[in-house]
Amino acid sequence: MSDLASLVRNIPDWPKPGIQFKDITTLLSDPAGLRDAITRLATPFRGKGVDLVLGTEARGFLFAPAVAMELGAGVVLARKPGKLPCKTNREEYALEYGVDALETHADAVAPGQKVLLVDDLLATGGTMTAAARLVERMGGEIVGCAFLIELTFLPGRERLAPRPVHSLIKYATED
Ligand code: AMP
Repeated sequence: MSDLASLVRNIPDWPKPGIQFKDITTLLSDPAGLRDAITRLATPFRGKGVDLVLGTEARGFLFAPAVAMELGAGVVLARKPGKLPCKTNREEYALEYGVDALETHADAVAPGQKVLLVDDLLATGGTMTAAARLVERMGGEIVGCAFLIELTFLPGRERLAPRPVHSLIKYATED
């Protein structure tokens, strides 16, 4: 099994001073690492009847289709505002300065469908909480939230509770 943490590159002070950016492009370009990451994101959710895997724009899109194929599920996109062509629902979330928002098509999830949410990284949990609310507004049942990376010194997991959180690589400190 690959040591996934060794395949992630830390970029200090990017995109601004004080941020330790976790660059996953080095993991994506490693064939064994990529395969292991997809398998391990999907594993806890096998046999759980997952109908749909939701990916959040943009890096969630890199993992959602592969995880969905592992689980025999379809894919739903949670996109930045104005990108989806049909009727949408929107959920806003706070950024350090200002607000951002995610949208899904209003009919993307049918009531009672089981949905797994996927993104590359859990930080404050604002992004994934917005995605979770969109699914819940449509009557979807959230089976879990799966991340390649979790920054455990931030309260993302608590913010998503009681929704189950699964992560493969945990960073307990900022650097
Ligand atoms: P949050 O909403 O605070 O949980 O932030 C998660 C989103 O922001 C994910 O889509 C990540 O891609 C991105 N993100 C936040 N912090 C980092 C970081 N340190 N390195 C890379 N991506 C990050």
